[in-house]
Amino acid sequence: MKYIDPHIHMVSRTTDDYARMAQCGCVAISEPAFWAGYDRSSPQGFFDYYRQLTEYEPRRAAQYGIAHHCWLCINPKEAEDPVFAREVIALIPEFLERPNVLGIGEIGLNKNSKSELKVLEEQIDLAARYDQLVLVHTPHLEDKLKGTKLILEAIARNSKIQPHRVLIDHVEEHTAKMVLDRGHWAGMTLYPDSKCTPQRAVDILETLGSERLCMNSAGDWGHSDPLSVPKAAIEMKRRGYLEAAINKVIYENPVAFLRQSPKFKAALDV
Ligand SMILES: [Zn+2]
Repeated sequence: MKYIDPHIHMVSRTTDDYARMAQCGCVAISEPAFWAGYDRSSPQGFFDYYRQLTEYEPRRAAQYGIAHHCWLCINPKEAEDPVFAREVIALIPEFLERPNVLGIGEIGLNKNSKSELKVLEEQIDLAARYDQLVLVHTPHLEDKLKGTKLILEAIARNSKIQPHRVLIDHVEEHTAKMVLDRGHWAGMTLYPDSKCTPQRAVDILETLGSERLCMNSAGDWGHSDPLSVPKAAIEMKRRGYLEAAINKVIYENPVAFLRQSPKFKAALDV
């Protein structure tokens, strides 16, 4: 089956991972800007990273027939210093025109600090001013519920942001419904044995249905699995889901959200 991974950090993965993803049916991905495995010491570090996301990674993905897209921002993990963050944010507009950039992300909160919230609000405003889609990171573990509420309120305060143009990732059992109730899309970010596993994600689907719900693999610097989405599809099949229902979650839903950007390609040659 074809699938799309709307949230995977390929800069942290090997080229063999692209090969294995393609073998499992991956046709398109989107890569949010995030932590690079280390804290960057200057805005120039972000400039180089944005070039990597818009120039080098699309070429690496294309070798395996995968259409690569990305999102740009300063991530919450490095947004504790608002002055530094503003210097980075100032670099973003010139990159928004590039052909594989879908929007602003993954913005959000990490430790729910005041500085993070300020930088989040400024980046929501950036997305509104440049009419961009938004992809959001929600904090992990005990900070998730509070952080998700703070993020939803911050988005709602910006009257120019349309809820259906926002995808909120890392949702779990206690946050998915509140995200969907606001009219946003929700992404279950899958990890092998912590946070939301493929099994837990399918449990959530059984509770909430599949309207505006997607799955992604994170595939980041931590313990993660770039094949989480096809593994979740196998779990759906094991529980008796028909092919059309699986296809909706792993292909049609991400296409429906991502194609709100005219730059999204559901396959390399489309
Ligand atoms: Zn991420």
